[in-house]
Amino acid sequence: MTSPVWHPFFQHGLNEAIPHVVRAEGALLHLADGSTLIDAISSWWVTTHGHCHPRIAAAIAQQAGTLDQLIFAGYTHEPAEEVARGLIALAPRADDQPKLAHVFYSDSGSTAVEVALKMALGYWHNLSLDGAAQARSRILVLDHSYHGDTIGAMSVGERGVYNAAWTPLLFDVDTIPFPAPGREQACLDALEVACARHPAAFLVEPLILGAGGMFVYSAEVLREMAAICRRHGVLFIADEVMTGWGRTGTVFACEQAGVVPDIMAVAKGITGGAIPLAATLATAPIFEAHRSTDRARLFYHSSSYTANPIACAAAVANLAIWREEDVLGRITRLAQAMADRLAALARHRAFANPRQAGTIVAIDLVTPDAGYLSDLAPRLRAFFLERGLLLRPLGNTIYLMPPYCLDADQLDRIFAALHAAGEKFGSHA
Ligand SMILES: *Cc1c(COP(=O)(O)O)cnc(C)c1O
Repeated sequence: MTSPVWHPFFQHGLNEAIPHVVRAEGALLHLADGSTLIDAISSWWVTTHGHCHPRIAAAIAQQAGTLDQLIFAGYTHEPAEEVARGLIALAPRADDQPKLAHVFYSDSGSTAVEVALKMALGYWHNLSLDGAAQARSRILVLDHSYHGDTIGAMSVGERGVYNAAWTPLLFDVDTIPFPAPGREQACLDALEVACARHPAAFLVEPLILGAGGMFVYSAEVLREMAAICRRHGVLFIADEVMTGWGRTGTVFACEQAGVVPDIMAVAKGITGGAIPLAATLATAPIFEAHRSTDRARLFYHSSSYTANPIACAAAVANLAIWREEDVLGRITRLAQAMADRLAALARHRAFANPRQAGTIVAIDLVTPDAGYLSDLAPRLRAFFLERGLLLRPLGNTIYLMPPYCLDADQLDRIFAALHAAGEKFGSHA
């Protein structure tokens, strides 16, 4: 019988296998046929500590029987309060910059980014009502960005085949060239010029651009970008949806640059990857621009499940794990183990451009011709699946983003399969 389920980012016409997963623990997925897969990409980048972490699972069960859902417009509950305090305590900070002091909840990375954009324009709009500033509305982004798949999030992301059908719905943004190695100054110069035209905000993925191709840039460039924005009074928005929760080696990537964004979007690992939740953090000036006795200035955004108590309870448990366990130590050891193996793989002729940010590594498979590329990704997926691995290359870029509990044997199995993929699909083969 064919299934009525329509899968995301999946071409049903290719008749690829759709594994049926019944159970998960740690870095392993258990399939209906009794076999297992190593989850080398954390089930779309969300699973941080490992699947079905007992503390997070217990918190969800406990909360589900206590308070399951609550309208959040003017009502509150302890899990939401506790997560907000925990986020503020963990957020990047610096003595010379306003701190992130307010937390607005939503349900996904895309909505957290949309909320960030709405806050930025709301800030300028409300200041303009007082005559304190001009209303500003342009958004600056980096080339190759990815911020989600809703209309607004697509508007601020790279344009291509994945959003061509909706181009008429997307709003215009100004794009700044990506700070590729050796091209950093061109990026900063373009940002300086664009900032002088009074845009509302600059939105960036800090240290590594994810779905756009796993492109890495330095903390120095990130620091300089934020400084340029600050000099011009342009709001600096960090999309930490992928980079947050230890992915790049620190809790949030902005820490490495000593940058405190004006607005920061977090999602994915906020619940350890167990249940959807997102948050957009803002500094006092952003919040204060909306606080008034005037109802017209309130922040008009919500969704039915805003700050769902069960999701917040999972996030409370995740925050406790971060406080009480040596998560960063685990991340450092995993990142080092990945770096060692990546260096060995990079010596293989079939691979180029090895790169890493914490527990994310990526490398490009050198393939014979671009035409071949079109069916490369599904062939690679099938190749890895046969070897017991969940991996999802971006075109010819193979990347790993495993849960932090991955052990050395599992890592060796993954790299052995990457090596074998180089032998089979590399241009010299
Ligand atoms: C995944 C991702 C998003 C979108 O998050 P969803 O939860 O999938 O909506 C936004 N920004 C970045 C950087 C991401 O990696």
